[in-house]
Amino acid sequence: MRKKLGIVVLMAALAGIIFLSQTAGERLYEQVSGKADAGNLVVIDSGHGGKDPGKVGVNGVNEADVNLKIAQKLKKILEAQGVTVIMTREDEGSLAGSKSEDMQKRVSIINEKKPALAVSVHQNSYSSEEVHGAQVFYYTNSAEGGKAARIMQEALLDVDGDNKRKEKANDTYYMLKRTDVPVIIVECGFLSNRAEADLLVTEEYQDRLAEAIAKGILEYMGK
Ligand SMILES: [Zn+2]
Repeated sequence: MRKKLGIVVLMAALAGIIFLSQTAGERLYEQVSGKADAGNLVVIDSGHGGKDPGKVGVNGVNEADVNLKIAQKLKKILEAQGVTVIMTREDEGSLAGSKSEDMQKRVSIINEKKPALAVSVHQNSYSSEEVHGAQVFYYTNSAEGGKAARIMQEALLDVDGDNKRKEKANDTYYMLKRTDVPVIIVECGFLSNRAEADLLVTEEYQDRLAEAIAKGILEYMGK
């Protein structure tokens, strides 16, 4: 009787050990594979859309359309390099009816997917027409964001070697403040500058921008 009980206890203990080691193993596997996936993932956020055109260029172009064109080209280049890409928007529409809800949804996508990097594509505008050149923004309190922004600002010299702009820290932009992974905002150029606005609507310049941004992303990811 006592011997049988001993065997039962032994069997139960063995089952317990097997169960524990399996779950520990699975947990480890999940951690490793989860990390590997997130490490290869980039979220591309094409700014504005729907009723929100963003900035309107001196040549009449809407920022939202230029952003989407560059974002789509960027997605193709990155995917060809084996990077997994999630777009916050794939077409002209916005993510929600109101601007604040739209921004919340973009932020939720980034926080849920936890990419290695999120890149928000925008075009700039300023009151004086002579101002031009691409500029990258990052969250003041994010060392990784700062690193990504430095790499990206340099990569953008491929498009315009005379661009003297430097990456800039910011602690007020909603997307930078509310996200918990490295996020950079790439302002590709000024739609208020005639020459730059006219370049930004051409396929050729959009291609060059997408190539430069992809180069910056790949370098940041260590690829
Ligand atoms: Zn914008």
